[in-house]
Amino acid sequence: MYKEKLKKYAEAIVHIGANVQKGDNIVLNTDTDNLELAREIVRACWRAGAADVDTIIADNDMSLGRFEEAEDDVFDHFPEFKVEHAERHMQNKYHRISVSAPRLDLFQNVDPDRLRRSSIAANRAMEPIMKYMDTGEIKWTVAAGASELWAGSLFPDLPMTEAMAELWDKIFAACRISEDGGAVEAWLEHDAKLKAHEKWLNSQQFSYLHYEAPGTDFRVGLAERHNWIGGSSLTPDGISYMANMPTEEIFTTPHAKEAEGKLKSTMPLAISGKVVEDFGFVFEGGKVIDFFAGKNGDVLQTQLGMDEGARRLGEVALVPNSSPISQMGITFKSTLFDENASCHFALGKAYTEAIVGGENMTKEERADLGFNDSMIHLDFMVGGPELNVTGYRSDGSSTPILRNGEWV
Ligand code: ZN
Ligand code: ZN
Repeated sequence: MYKEKLKKYAEAIVHIGANVQKGDNIVLNTDTDNLELAREIVRACWRAGAADVDTIIADNDMSLGRFEEAEDDVFDHFPEFKVEHAERHMQNKYHRISVSAPRLDLFQNVDPDRLRRSSIAANRAMEPIMKYMDTGEIKWTVAAGASELWAGSLFPDLPMTEAMAELWDKIFAACRISEDGGAVEAWLEHDAKLKAHEKWLNSQQFSYLHYEAPGTDFRVGLAERHNWIGGSSLTPDGISYMANMPTEEIFTTPHAKEAEGKLKSTMPLAISGKVVEDFGFVFEGGKVIDFFAGKNGDVLQTQLGMDEGARRLGEVALVPNSSPISQMGITFKSTLFDENASCHFALGKAYTEAIVGGENMTKEERADLGFNDSMIHLDFMVGGPELNVTGYRSDGSSTPILRNGEWV
């Protein structure tokens, strides 16, 4: 049964996620834990008529080995040809499929300064590449596969084979892969429901949202010309693709200069191989002026210090507490899954497609509307059964959006 579902999952990633068309070039990023899934994806890409499939493989232990064994100055450099390689992929319209398992606390004993410098060097070097993503011409999708590290962390009391089977079951369920029925059809139906919420939110023209929950009393302005987006995205040529699998969220662009109050996170957050717990932020004038964390606050501090935009919000997303992933009742310790179980925000870079006409604006034009820019995009969860969200319009009128975590 597992093998059958794995094939269906690969088909869904290729036909719904990247929506591979005849003649498409594809670059597949995977880790060594997911080679079985990656092989199915590569086959499905060729069957869909891909012109080329280029695979880039990473390995957890090799990544760890670099941090533990390399000379110290290695972490301030990023080879130029790797940037050129990535840029050539973009110029030749290589659409991107990424499958990996979260690294969890793999890097917990690594020198934090090495992690920080390595991440700054890579982000700075790769910054010029981001403009290719802004045009919306590159289809991209991010999905996850199981790993022993991940399964063992979620189900520590089970023998490894059972823990792996349990994790795959959860991944398949979250991604609408079942024994009977086609995954592609199930995803089209799900997408239609998300589009209905998207349409309603866009019709409301809210200017700011008010969040209330235990530990949270927070107001966030929405960017001018903000656009709510849920489910599939469209390329300028009108080809749809699903950037995240699973996806349950409807998101838009907050105003980078309009956020006030206290915002408490409701789930732990994995950053650079460390897990931050019991944390939250205090905002003033759109900027984080203070934060607290019960565990690993240092990695959070590092993220906030990455650049000017790292202290401001770039995404606001709504997810009902009754979403299937939320109802599974487990924390996946993976942003891809946990953000789709919960309302969330992201610090850092906003999404150009979440501004009407954003793809065709200059950086400055977007910034004028309230669009945030940064080398980071860090999602954190604020949802739960006690969250109320209310929308306010510029004329002062208001409409409840979520009550006790559910769509009103
Ligand atoms: Zn999101
Ligand atoms: Zn996000």
